[in-house]
Amino acid sequence: MPRGPDFGLRGFFFIIKIFAKRQLIMIEGYFDDTEERRRVRQNGTGWIEVIVGSMFSGKSEELIRRLTRARIARQKVQVFKPKIDARYSREEIASHSGQTHTSLPVTTAAELLAQVEPDTEVVGIDEGQFFDMEIVEAVNRLAAGGKRVIVAGLDQDYTGKPFEPMPQLLCVAEFITKTHAICVKCGSTANYSQRTVESEARVEVGAADKYEARCRKCFVPHADAPTEG
Ligand code: ADP
Ligand code: ZN
Repeated sequence: MPRGPDFGLRGFFFIIKIFAKRQLIMIEGYFDDTEERRRVRQNGTGWIEVIVGSMFSGKSEELIRRLTRARIARQKVQVFKPKIDARYSREEIASHSGQTHTSLPVTTAAELLAQVEPDTEVVGIDEGQFFDMEIVEAVNRLAAGGKRVIVAGLDQDYTGKPFEPMPQLLCVAEFITKTHAICVKCGSTANYSQRTVESEARVEVGAADKYEARCRKCFVPHADAPTEG
């Protein structure tokens, strides 16, 4: 049967349609990995998303944004954070810009696992770097059990060393987001949390009173005087 120009035209529109769909998937994927996540869900399991970056890079904001969207979609959400001192035992996670989300403080990964309810669909975890190494196995179990797990945390300590267990979590995650702050010294992209008070403890809880965001050029791997401005 002769196909002629009719087939040519149909073929042309078919290619345009495929191209448009691909563009849509790429645009959507760029912002939210939505298309990829949907594919993982179709497979019957859950998955792990990890958000890492320096202090002030917007990790908590991004975590809260994803949790809020899940709640709008009427999914059951539970959020946890490590109970590392009195300041952190309040029952909410908070961003430096003032956004909050209710959360449960837990001491260990085992305690977190024990508190996740069977019908929970999304598990959020903030300050992942303060959990013990068992958190890796815990999130793997939750994801294998069909839950979407979102972990936010510092990827480096104040000296620039990888902050366990975040490197291990990055390895097991299906989706990774790196957030960046603005260097307070020069305005470049900041990847480091500069400590501005004398202390050699790896965990020194604080915010703008003890740390500032710095780029690779302005960062020094020990305490440094705060930037004036
Ligand atoms: P993180 O969880 O990574 O520490 P947050 O989500 O708590 O970050 O806070 C991000 C917010 O911090 C930004 O939206 C901005 O309002 C504020 N902020 C303060 N200092 C900086 C900085 N140097 N660079 C970028 N954002 C900053
Ligand atoms: Zn800088």
